[in-house]
Amino acid sequence: MRIPLDRESSVPLYQQIRDFLRREIQRGDLAPETRLPPTRELAAALGVNRLTVSSAYAELEAEGLIYAHVGRGTFVASSPQSATTGIERRTALRTGEWPSWQQAYPRPLQYAGRTEIERLLTLAANPGVISFAQGTGASDLFPVAQFRQAMNEVLRRDKADALGYGERAGYPPLRLTIARVLASQGLAVSPDEIIITTGSQQALDLVARTLLRPGDPVLVESPTYSGALEVFEGVEARLIAVPMDEEGMRVEVVEELIQYARPRLIYTIPTFHNPTGTALGNARRRQLVALSECYNIPILEDDFVGDLRYDGPAQPALKTIDARGNVIYVSTFSKMLMPGLRIGFLVASGPVYDHLLIRKRATDLATSNLIQRALEAYITVGRYQAHLRRACRIYRQRRDVMVQCLREQCPSEVTWNIPRGGLFIWVRLPGSVSVPQLYLEAIQEGVAFLPGTFLFPGNEEYPAIRLNFTVHPPDIITEGMRRLGRVLGRFLARAESGTIPSHDQKTVVV
Ligand code: PMP
Repeated sequence: MRIPLDRESSVPLYQQIRDFLRREIQRGDLAPETRLPPTRELAAALGVNRLTVSSAYAELEAEGLIYAHVGRGTFVASSPQSATTGIERRTALRTGEWPSWQQAYPRPLQYAGRTEIERLLTLAANPGVISFAQGTGASDLFPVAQFRQAMNEVLRRDKADALGYGERAGYPPLRLTIARVLASQGLAVSPDEIIITTGSQQALDLVARTLLRPGDPVLVESPTYSGALEVFEGVEARLIAVPMDEEGMRVEVVEELIQYARPRLIYTIPTFHNPTGTALGNARRRQLVALSECYNIPILEDDFVGDLRYDGPAQPALKTIDARGNVIYVSTFSKMLMPGLRIGFLVASGPVYDHLLIRKRATDLATSNLIQRALEAYITVGRYQAHLRRACRIYRQRRDVMVQCLREQCPSEVTWNIPRGGLFIWVRLPGSVSVPQLYLEAIQEGVAFLPGTFLFPGNEEYPAIRLNFTVHPPDIITEGMRRLGRVLGRFLARAESGTIPSHDQKTVVV
């Protein structure tokens, strides 16, 4: 076989051989079942290394164009399959056609609701839609240039050290810096009690997988953060809903629930809760920690936006009240700085720390060393505190604009609370409203929100929506709220006259 090879070309020789044979096969010049020369023979004829020919054959085989028959040689496939038809064939497989081990993985039922959220939320990205569905701060506040400078500094200073795995618990100077930031907020911890995680989502997952076994009851606020619900459902925990009011979790019912359900964990977002924006009162904080001590139940404290406080006095983290090592504290730089860093952390005291560290290693060995170092360089020169002050000033103004719009635009049956920090306003609607239906109409009007429907762990559920006020500047908030006000007005008028389905019908039609 004569294959023209260009030895001066930048295209490697094995690719030239592969491309030539592929063309010949696709044109039919090499007919199906034609035996190709053995690799040694072709290599000798072409004056190339045998490995070069083997590599070309291997790629053609992966593409389905040729096949090897042990002891007989390599042949052109009878109905050559291209790589893309392989993908197409797999995509077209029906449930029963997958290998039987795959059939043991039916669509996970417990995620069905949240899959619906995701489907609904894709509509929020439609052009022209003003979305209040996000769970982050404003991307135009991300300190991109300063972070680039910090990355450059770190690479120049630490060179290859910045690119190794680094310490499993996290870059020690970053742990020290975090301990100092926490100390400035009244939370004294040792850097040795900290594990840096890949976002606080990973911290939640590590704690759940370390502390819980299938069937274990877990107390969670109702409503709560959907990502935490997924974590607990992932370990097959049994969710016990604790009702909330405008002061956060109703701690007075917790003792009863403890006695009834014997939970293995209490998960709470005490400060500027997701989705309700409430902050747990000081007395309740103390009661909750006391209950955890009295009944020997660990608390998982998710402090995802504690530093985004716009008014009112700072409240102590539960971990500051914890004298016995009952509270595992989790926080993140996602909301207060940038979510793409994927840097969160947990603080755990006592023997459980080592177990969490072992899980962390088993999960991903370590969080990005380079990003941890850059973050440490960024925080250390005081830029983080300055960023936080600026973010709080801007977000406070945006919250006030949204609250004003709610007052001006929303029908009187709609109620909300004014959060003293965080990202969200939780808006309660009259009982007759179907939130998914409302969402679809809102999309038509060019505005989106997070439907509250799937944020409830138990049966206790009421129609509500979550509005993010941090992402957009005031003029966009005002326009979005005008649209929302129009939809709500129309929708509630129809709901009252009984011409639209009530929220008892939970089917989402998208
Ligand atoms: N906790 C809460 C309450 C959240 O809202 C989120 C993200 N939306 C997380 C934890 C996880 O965020 P990350 O992994 O980015 O730190």
